[in-house]
Amino acid sequence: MIHETTHFKKVLTEQLHTVEEELKNLGWKNDAGEWDAAVKDIDQSATEADEVADRIEEFEENQTEIAEIQVHWHDIKRALAKIEEGTYGLCEICGEAIEEDRLEANPSARTCKTHIDEEKNLS
Ligand SMILES: [Zn+2]
Repeated sequence: MIHETTHFKKVLTEQLHTVEEELKNLGWKNDAGEWDAAVKDIDQSATEADEVADRIEEFEENQTEIAEIQVHWHDIKRALAKIEEGTYGLCEICGEAIEEDRLEANPSARTCKTHIDEEKNLS
């Protein structure tokens, strides 16, 4: 084992919980296991065009926010899966161990410091 994963597993599990709470406030988990913005029912009284426009705007804002949070959500889930597989803390580019202080700052980091700029290119 490259890193002491008990600590990171605890931190990541807490982060996952926090992120899922945020996602639940904004939307719902669809059948594909991804998150979608909740479409709030436009009730009978919401016949004013302004109000409908407000709802649509809110929905679009939620979608944008969900998309950003979902990236983090995936990273956390991926990191937890790696702990189970025994590959946690390895750079996905070079396969070397990720620096301990980098993981402390970001437990779901996918690359070492050398390849930090390439992390965004990972699928
Ligand atoms: Zn690397």
